[in-house]
Order: sequence, then structure tokens, then C-alpha cells
Amino acid sequence: MNACVGVTILGSTGSIGVSTLNVLRRHADRFRVLALTAHRDVEGLFQQCLSHEPEYAVMADPNAAEQLRDRLRAAGRPVEVLAGATELERVAALPETAYVMAAIVGAAGLLPTLAAARAGKRVLLANKEALVMAGPLFMTAVREHGAELLPIDSEHNAVFQCLPPDFAVQGLDTVGIRRILLTGSGGPFRATPLERLPDVTPDQACAHPNWRMGRKISVDSATMMNKGLEVIEAHWLFAAPPARIEVVVHPQSVIHSMVEYEDGSVLAQLGNPDMRTPIAHALAWPGRLASGAAFLDFARLTPLEFQAPDCARFPCLRLAFSALDAGGAAPTILNAANEVAVQAFLDRRIRFTAIAAVVEQTLERVSPHGVDTLATILADDALARAVAAERIAAQASEGR
Ligand code: NAD
Ligand code: MG
Repeated sequence: MNACVGVTILGSTGSIGVSTLNVLRRHADRFRVLALTAHRDVEGLFQQCLSHEPEYAVMADPNAAEQLRDRLRAAGRPVEVLAGATELERVAALPETAYVMAAIVGAAGLLPTLAAARAGKRVLLANKEALVMAGPLFMTAVREHGAELLPIDSEHNAVFQCLPPDFAVQGLDTVGIRRILLTGSGGPFRATPLERLPDVTPDQACAHPNWRMGRKISVDSATMMNKGLEVIEAHWLFAAPPARIEVVVHPQSVIHSMVEYEDGSVLAQLGNPDMRTPIAHALAWPGRLASGAAFLDFARLTPLEFQAPDCARFPCLRLAFSALDAGGAAPTILNAANEVAVQAFLDRRIRFTAIAAVVEQTLERVSPHGVDTLATILADDALARAVAAERIAAQASEGR
């Protein structure tokens, strides 16, 4: 019908999904929204269907899908509504779709993101948890099926932009890279007195100083587990050994990450903290597109600061590095335990400081099934969730 690139957005009602639609809307001559998906936000997906007129809308929750179908029918909109998790995989692999934005939060995104990779799509990866839980399997799928993997996470997108054009996944040494420097703001509790941390609330944890994001990643940013997950993500994306990845606290979030070369040069990517920049970059790559983000005004910037991360304050960062060093299923277990613990914190069942404790105890108690197949990954994920839930119940009964 037209020469537009077909796009599927997994998790279109979330923070990244909304920013993606915002960029796509500016370039309706180049992109066509083919499929939108959400968990159970009927109103959000209904409104998106009215404005973006996709061919398919998927709700992971079947009851929500039924409601959406009724509303679209009543509004006279010819959108095909599909229900359930397997339909997410279907719309990720549609023949008419060339680009898939993977913006579901958490492990729920793994199967559809993997389906996009196996269908050889350009995968715009925001859903870092998918890569953390199934790194080797996912990267193999990308390679074997000729998918294009473009990072959306601002740090990894920044690193990607600082790599030489001939960077290959064989290793950093071939192109003279010494280290990857991932920056992180340190979140809302960077300077909070340590004795106050047990009592911080979910709303305080979600009030990130520089970014507006979904609640799960906001809590991860407050514990710095987000940076830990990003270290693991960088390991898989750039074939970087853990010792060559360094975390730098940079409270202003102007430098989104850096690459240090053997000759002493450090390349950085800068910009206002607005996810539309990495989204537009990945949509347009190797070209460029206007994103709608404000431009940096250097004369008005506050001074840029840099610090080493404080692992006593942020034990989750240490746990993520050790899970990466341990290898095997440890990152899968770390990710699953963290998801369950963050949800328990958001539901006010455990304290903020118990998140790290639950993750650590789960890592100590789970004996993995092995990490080679999707089945073992899903089994380890389920086992870690059960053990984490047990630890949460224990924490709650001890009143901690
Ligand atoms: P969000 O909570 O705002 O949105 C999540 C989306 O996933 C929603 O559309 C929701 O309906 C969908 N979803 C949730 N559970 C689901 C399930 N079980 N089945 C199907 N769909 C489900 O999250 P977000 O902030 O947009 O983050 C999305 C992903 O992007 C996360 O992995 C996050 O780590 C990553 N990311 C986000 C940002 C950001 O600025 N928000 C930055 C970097 C990376
Ligand atoms: Mg990030």
C-alpha cells in the first residue's frame, strides 16, 4: 500500500511506548504503526488505537482484550484485537513488520522480544530484563536469524553511538577499546542519610531526579539495580568482559555513557535526558531523525560531576556484578528475584532496603537448572520467583 516501515510496539502504553509513538507521529511519512500491545490498560490502548490506527492491538490480559474489542467496535474502528501472551509473539513476527520496539517491562517481554529476533527484525531493545535473563540465547538468536539489535537504553545507545563503524561482536580489542563507562545518576537517594533508607516510600523511590519512567525501572534506579542490570546488558550487547565495564555516577544525566580507547581518547554521547533521542536514533540508524527532544544549551548547563559508585549504599550493584561473574543462571535468578522484590516494595509489603536482601538470599538458595535452553531459563526464573516470594513472606513476618 505504501513504502512506510511497519512498526510493532510491545508495551505501547508504557513510558517508552508513549515516547516511541511520539517520535513515530512526527514521521508518519516514513513509519506505519502496525501493532500496539499492552498488559491490561484498556483505556490507554483504546486511545492509542484511535490516534494511531494500528491493524492489530494485543492485550496480554484476555478480559481486558474483550473490553477493548467492545469499545473499538462501538467506536467503529476496524482494529483486530488479539488476546494473550502468545499473540504478543505473533505481532512481534508479522511479515509486514520490519521494526519491533521491545518495551514491555520485565521478564514478560522475553518471549515476544525473542520472537522478533527469531523473525530477523530490527529489534529496538528497551526491555533490558529480557537480555539479562537470557543473554547467550538471545544473542545467538539475533546472530542466527540476521536480526538487527539496536539498544534503546540510553547508556547502551550512547555506547553504540561511540563505537567505530567496524565494531564487531568478536571483542573490544579488535577496535582498540579499553573500557566501557556506563554513567548513572545515582537516583533519588544518592545523598539520603543511610539510616533513612529503610523508611523511604514507593513514591519517593519513583521520584527520579532526571527521568520520568515506569515504576519498576524507577525503583531499580533508586537501588541502582538498574545500573547492575545495565552492566549485564552491556556485557552481552558489546561482548565486554565485566572487568572492562565501569560504572560512573554522574548526577546531571547529560553524558549518557562513554567509550575509552587504548590511546587515552574517551568518546561520550551527550544530550538532554529524553528517551526520544535514543528511540529516534534506533529508528533512523544509520541515519538521523528529529526526535522532539530539546537541544542542549551548553552555556546554561550546571557543572558536570562524576563519582565512583558507593556499593555500601547500593548493594544491588555489587550483587549484579557478582551474578555476572558467577555466570550461568545467576543473572536470570538475580533478575527474577529483583522483579518480585520490587513489586513487593511497591505494594508496601517490604522495605526499600529489603529488596537487596531478598535478591541476595535468593541467589544463595537457588540451585539453577542450567542456562542453555529457553526451558531451563524459564524454570530458573520460576524457581527464583518462588524462593524470593518465600523470603519476602519471611521478611514481612519478621516486620522488617
Ligand atoms: P512501563 O511500566 O511504563 O510500561 C511497561 C509496558 O509493558 C506497558 O505498556 C505495560 O502494559 C506492558 N506490560 C507490563 N507487564 C506486561 C505483561 N505481563 N505482559 C504484557 N505487557 C506488559 O515501563 P517503561 O518505563 O516504559 O519500561 C519498559 C522497559 O524499558 C523496561 O524494561 C525498562 O527497564 C526499559 N527502559 C525504560 C526506560 C524509561 O525511560 N522508561 C529507559 C531505559 C530502559
Ligand atoms: Mg538506562
